[in-house]
Amino acid sequence: MTPEEFRKQGHAVVDWIADYRRDVAKYPVMPHTGPGDIRRSLPGHAPEHPESFGEIMRDLDRVIVPGITHWQHPSFFGFFPSNGLLSSVLGDFLSTGLGVIGLSWQSSPALTELEEVVCDWMRQMLGLSSAWSGVIHDTASTNTLVALICARERASNFALGRGGLQGEDRPLVVYASAHAHSSVDKAALLAGFGRENMRLVPSDEKNAMRADELARLIEADVRAGRVPCAIVATTGTTTATALDPVAAIAEVAERFGVWLHVDAAMAGSAMILPECRWMWEGVERADSLVVNPHKWLGAAFDCSLYFVRDPEHLVRVMSTNPSYLQSSADGSVKNFRDWGLPLGRRFRALKLWCLIREQGVAGLQARLRRDMENAKWFESQVRASPEWRVLAPVPLQTVCVRHEPPGLSGEELDAHTQRWVDLLNHSGAAYVTPAILDGRWMVRVSIGGEQTERAHVEALWDKMRLAVATD
Ligand code: PLP
Repeated sequence: MTPEEFRKQGHAVVDWIADYRRDVAKYPVMPHTGPGDIRRSLPGHAPEHPESFGEIMRDLDRVIVPGITHWQHPSFFGFFPSNGLLSSVLGDFLSTGLGVIGLSWQSSPALTELEEVVCDWMRQMLGLSSAWSGVIHDTASTNTLVALICARERASNFALGRGGLQGEDRPLVVYASAHAHSSVDKAALLAGFGRENMRLVPSDEKNAMRADELARLIEADVRAGRVPCAIVATTGTTTATALDPVAAIAEVAERFGVWLHVDAAMAGSAMILPECRWMWEGVERADSLVVNPHKWLGAAFDCSLYFVRDPEHLVRVMSTNPSYLQSSADGSVKNFRDWGLPLGRRFRALKLWCLIREQGVAGLQARLRRDMENAKWFESQVRASPEWRVLAPVPLQTVCVRHEPPGLSGEELDAHTQRWVDLLNHSGAAYVTPAILDGRWMVRVSIGGEQTERAHVEALWDKMRLAVATD
């Protein structure tokens, strides 16, 4: 494709995206597609000869769009809001169009330096002190893995330079609440700690980690000759946006010299609102921290910020320095390849830069406040309705609810919940995600799409009541 052909097709693609976003509400939120339908509509092998871009776009409309769950639909209330704002889409587009890769500072100086600038803007927007240094990686899963590897190396005094974990006499232990995201468990296993050395700390009635139970587990491990290594506290858990008490957990971490990582993948975005910062009070005492602007903040996926207090330790754990990557500037610049797992890095800072500049901090704050007000309104409606229950505190924008008709409990109640959620989601009118809380199915209503206004939340509430009446 020549640049001139690209210009022509690129305009058509931008028009296509603009039309899609303008009209997204006309689609059923969840597609009427069965397993394998999309695959069967596509050729099983690559075309031998070139095809026109027009043909590709026709197949996008014909085959791909009917198989999309529309995350940007104003009635999408599933998972967490993600990926939303078009200014960030343009930044992502520019990043791909530039076609550069950040292997080292010299491989594209602006890539590194814009990332430094944008991370520092974000640090200030989140109300963090200048003790933190940030980097952009793909996902929170990656960042939590990096954090646990760094914790492992600190606790083992750089076992990677000897026999690794296999050479250690005493097992290293990781602590998180049972409500922590599955990526924490995965990171602990992939970092080599082993299932036997992963502790699930009991939580309180608000689904928050109990710091006293944490201390008790750590003491027991110390007595048994194990080495407490890392604690992962979550600000805004995935199921119910529960808030682990970071300050009390930091107290325990300091007492036992354990690494504290804060997973604020979702709730971190809310810290641009000064009135929300109590939710992670004590965060300054953590060692590392993850926040995903690709969630509620509206950055295009993937864009996950990793902040650390001791970048030298991070670099010592992660650095590689083959001759072909060295340059004379190395002594005076950052080489972000040494701040995480991959060598090659996308120019992710561009999409965050475009987003923040186009919205302004005030614009981003206003949208998040709107969503929190909508969540409060929805919560009040559910609380005021007989047979409905709000199951967890609503600090942010996710409301956990259940319809509990008289006489239904246990598995019958679960079956009722799953049936009405299926009815609602298959209707295409709205989309919510069911999840298990305290051993029973319930429904998460996660508000925060860019186009989601009060009217959409009101309509959702009507549809939910209709769905339970139909079951
Ligand atoms: N941590 C929390 C609290 C989450 O809610 C999620 C995803 O929803 C993750 C981590 C994983 O995020 P990612 O998809 O960026 O790995």
